[in-house]
Amino acid sequence: MRAKSFEFLKALAEAPSPSGYEQPAQKVFREYIRGSVDEVRTDVLGNTFGYIRGKKTKPIVMLAGHCDEIGFMVTYIDENGFAFFSPIGGVDTQLLPGKRVWIHTAKGPRVGVMGRKAIHLIDPKDREKVVQVHNLFIDFGAKDKKEAESLVKIGDPITFAVGLERLHGDRVVSRGFDDKMGSFVVGEVLRRIGERKERPPCPVYGVSTVQEEIGLRGATTSAYQVQPDVGIAIEVGHASDYPEVEKKRVGEYKLGFGPILARGANINPAVFDLLQKAARRGKIQVQILGAPRATGTDANVMQLSRKGVATGLVSVPLRYMHTPGEVLSLKDLDAACDLLVEFIGLLREDMNFTPK
Ligand SMILES: [Zn+2]
Repeated sequence: MRAKSFEFLKALAEAPSPSGYEQPAQKVFREYIRGSVDEVRTDVLGNTFGYIRGKKTKPIVMLAGHCDEIGFMVTYIDENGFAFFSPIGGVDTQLLPGKRVWIHTAKGPRVGVMGRKAIHLIDPKDREKVVQVHNLFIDFGAKDKKEAESLVKIGDPITFAVGLERLHGDRVVSRGFDDKMGSFVVGEVLRRIGERKERPPCPVYGVSTVQEEIGLRGATTSAYQVQPDVGIAIEVGHASDYPEVEKKRVGEYKLGFGPILARGANINPAVFDLLQKAARRGKIQVQILGAPRATGTDANVMQLSRKGVATGLVSVPLRYMHTPGEVLSLKDLDAACDLLVEFIGLLREDMNFTPK
């Protein structure tokens, strides 16, 4: 991966952006695409749009990757200065005890730790018990309620206190790859297309969407505004190449084997075919996902916007989704960008996406 692109990925992943609090990530996105697009705009929900004019005015294509990440929110401070919290999005509570977090206050991040009774003090019969989120709390060092309330406010968002790091080879680990890597792909495709002398065949909107983790909310309003003919969501997909994941339930998806193309009711067949054609032309290895229902992605609401949109879903294989240690391959990320650049190059004014 190009050094500047890697910097962009790292900055996006590390910018705090729990659903509803995405603007630090959107600022990174705007700065990266600004020089390559004809227009940059952010709407009232916080979705950020990059627009590149095409040679023709049809079909309008929209790429969507959500920049919100899972996290927590401060909901109560007790008399001893401990902060209680609720999850933002689907967090695995079993992961939480002992984790360090950043509480993102108006004055910047404040380090805290999710406290837990020492194992010596837990009755042996209780040691196997499942942790409940309402039994957990954050200790950020305050001596009492008064001091705590001067440092942290109700409604402040919280993230795990970890950033992006390289593992061996092309593998990287971070919190929030779901789906800041999707926002990355959108920004990177806009840059690659925008830096070319030749305009793309059709108008391209790249949208870094918000509030996906709490109900696909940003993609709903952004698809309504853009009115695309073709919409592609870029998301993380479950890799199944690590211990304890059952291939017969999840399918076979491996890191380093390229982006995953979904098929099924949420996916327009002509868009799926065109994505496959783009993969062949670009000599890009892809993996195929059978998705019999509406997917839990921005592709779901894009497809149902207004009179309907011809929708596709490109996923990047990811291990340990919704944990602070999500792992992916930079090679797969680059391949997803290559694929979408090829795909947009194949779009033509007279294309018909009505199923035959
Ligand atoms: Zn996601």
